[in-house]
Amino acid sequence: MNKKYDFLIVGAGLYGAVFAHEVKKAGKTCLIIDKRNHIAGNIYTEQVDDIQVHKYGAHIFHTSNKEIWAYVNQFAVFNRYINSPIANYNGEIYNLPFNMNTFNKMWGVITPDDARKKIEQQRRDNYVEYPQNLEEQAINLVGLDVYNKLIRGYTEKQWGRSCKEIPAFIIRRLPVRFTYDNNYFDDPYQGIPIGGYTSMIERLIKGIEVKLGTDYLIDKVNWDEIADKVVYTGPVDAYFDYKYGVLEYRSLRFETEVLDMPNFQGNAVVNYTDSQTPYTRIIEHKHFEFGTQPKTVISREYSEEWKRGDEPYYPINDSKNSVLYEKYKALTETKTNIIFGGRLGEYKYYDMDKVVETALHKATETLSYMKY
Ligand code: FAD
Ligand code: UDP
Repeated sequence: MNKKYDFLIVGAGLYGAVFAHEVKKAGKTCLIIDKRNHIAGNIYTEQVDDIQVHKYGAHIFHTSNKEIWAYVNQFAVFNRYINSPIANYNGEIYNLPFNMNTFNKMWGVITPDDARKKIEQQRRDNYVEYPQNLEEQAINLVGLDVYNKLIRGYTEKQWGRSCKEIPAFIIRRLPVRFTYDNNYFDDPYQGIPIGGYTSMIERLIKGIEVKLGTDYLIDKVNWDEIADKVVYTGPVDAYFDYKYGVLEYRSLRFETEVLDMPNFQGNAVVNYTDSQTPYTRIIEHKHFEFGTQPKTVISREYSEEWKRGDEPYYPINDSKNSVLYEKYKALTETKTNIIFGGRLGEYKYYDMDKVVETALHKATETLSYMKY
């Protein structure tokens, strides 16, 4: 039986938009649905007082993949933003990631050699040969002072548990540099799309039919009737009605305020690394785009325990959830007409460049099978 569309895409986020763009380009028909009342998923930006507000948290595009950079540049012009967050520890300001500016402020050291010696001296007394948790790993990496002032409070607020209970690998993704370089990322390509991410997604899905406020899972059987293939970018456990149990996430809450002043904190991202301040960071959105508007919009970010029904943000990569995900993954492999993709469909913390890469790869692979 001929179905109405070649593809039904569930989720108008980055994964769904890239996939839809590619199949449309290849002459296929598709419909995108999303349960939210807007497109762009978690990279949604909304204009408030002429400022692009990142509604689901700060998003900086960065990649080391030249092809992916060229791909996204077809749909947006990126500005020259370089992420350089600062840390506020009880009113003391430090540069991130950990680099010579941080070490100079912390200890007054001037040369890389002196900084290395200072870290060496600090970790000598606490060195653990095989670090078993984040605390041991962090002290090995940068010593006790940096751990106490810039890591412990922030990390414990972010993950809601002691650094002794958090896996060591989480901190390894944070660069430590012995140069005066405040660029948070090592990637050669970085920026924010001028005009916001929502416009970038609009360009990607131009000419494609979209239905918002539509939850696929409420009427799955009927939705499956209208297309030959379904691309599902929602939570994988929800698709299977949580039959093996619930995959856990860490959630976030944002308190957003418009302030009648041009500049609140002088930087896009300020991390509060002490334990007492209840939020982890404050984002001042206009600084992502070098804004000079008379007002400013800030968001205080609180990290929270997640329960079913809350917005899922960060997957919890512990062994319990990894084992559970493998069980769901085995089920997805039995569904030949459904593609599970994106951060929720694959229960994986994906940066945006990886989402684009995996969606492109999957679209090419799927289109090549359809030729036969
Ligand atoms: P999503 O954007 O979540 O899209 C999935 C869509 O599916 C949603 O719109 C949802 O409403 C819809 N959906 C779900 N279930 C259903 C259903 N049943 N029916 C219909 N629709 C449904 N990456 C970076 O590269 N740089 C950053 O600086 C960065 N910062 C981040 C900050 C935070 C706080 C977080 C959590 C992530 C960050 N990321 C960053 C990662 C980035 O957000 C993701 O890579 C990207 O949003 C994933 O896109 P996606 O399409 O897979 O998922
Ligand atoms: N981190 C920290 N202090 C900071 C920023 C980050 O200790 O000021 C640690 C923290 O453990 C966090 C990890 O580094 O979980 C990774 O931080 P990153 O900013 O890469 O993660 P994101 O907030 O983007 O998820």
